[in-house]
Amino acid sequence: MKKRVFSGARPTARQHIGNLLGAIDSYVKLQKEYDCLYCIVDIHALTTLQDTSQIQNNIHELALDWLAAGLDPQKSIIFVQSHVPEVTELHTYLSMVTPLSWLLRVPTFKEKVKLHPDNVNYGLVGYPVLMTSDIVLYKAEVVPVGEDQLPHLELAREIARRFNTLFGEIFPEPKAKLTSFPLIPGLDGKNKMSKEIENSVIEIAATAEDTRTKIMSAVTDPARKYRKDPGHPEVCNIYTLHKYFSASQVADIGKQCYVAEIGCVDCKKLLAKNMNEALKSLRERRAELAAKPEYIKEVLADGADRARVIARETIKEVKQKMGLI
Ligand code: SF4
Repeated sequence: MKKRVFSGARPTARQHIGNLLGAIDSYVKLQKEYDCLYCIVDIHALTTLQDTSQIQNNIHELALDWLAAGLDPQKSIIFVQSHVPEVTELHTYLSMVTPLSWLLRVPTFKEKVKLHPDNVNYGLVGYPVLMTSDIVLYKAEVVPVGEDQLPHLELAREIARRFNTLFGEIFPEPKAKLTSFPLIPGLDGKNKMSKEIENSVIEIAATAEDTRTKIMSAVTDPARKYRKDPGHPEVCNIYTLHKYFSASQVADIGKQCYVAEIGCVDCKKLLAKNMNEALKSLRERRAELAAKPEYIKEVLADGADRARVIARETIKEVKQKMGLI
């Protein structure tokens, strides 16, 4: 039997290039080797989303991005978190074995408090417990993650281990599978590409013109004030993106940047051209799928049905172990 993979994405906005390089491309490859569950984690979105008016639309758009990028519903279970309510039941049980001190030390909790100081809710603290429930409900053994998510996964392993110690072995301890492009910088030049940071992202579904406009206004090496200034490609987000979209040219771009043979304007134009070419067929597939909204609904309904078969079995085992039945 193949090992199971679980991963999820929050439907808080459209997926961007950072998601594509850092996660979705890996999801597509993992389908060959593993039984994969890919989940649109709408309950997680509620921890920071107070206005939920766009959540259904975001779920639809996220499913479109995934399917257009190559997630295959024949190979993988693609579903929405809240369509499998067993996950919230398991979250409650796991909450009882998770010390609060473990949750308060998670670095992303502190970051979220800074980003959303007016909405520090109970769900935000318990986010890693719900994330653990997502993974162990399906007894997933492998979780594709970026480096920044490693503390969350370590916590998931600790929670699973604690449950197993207290009540008996049920859950495999999930292992991280680091993606090959772990951290994609944002266009603002400082941070990880993130939908929570303004002017940081290029959406997968953006038009070619939008893509070009965003790249042309991106921040580059701050030491390069004038065209004649030598650059430092290793600190430049545009250069990082060239590594992916201009693989055959990236070594030359680096050398030319160091000695100011190439200017940032030309460098950005080249990236925009290469990125638009690389995304052309994905964007065309996405447009075809967008014309079939019923098909997207069917994929998600079928995914939830298949996920629930596994989830119900796990919940039964958990309740037996805990003495609830
Ligand atoms: Fe970055 Fe390219 Fe400018 Fe060098 S030339 S600083 S790699 S945008």
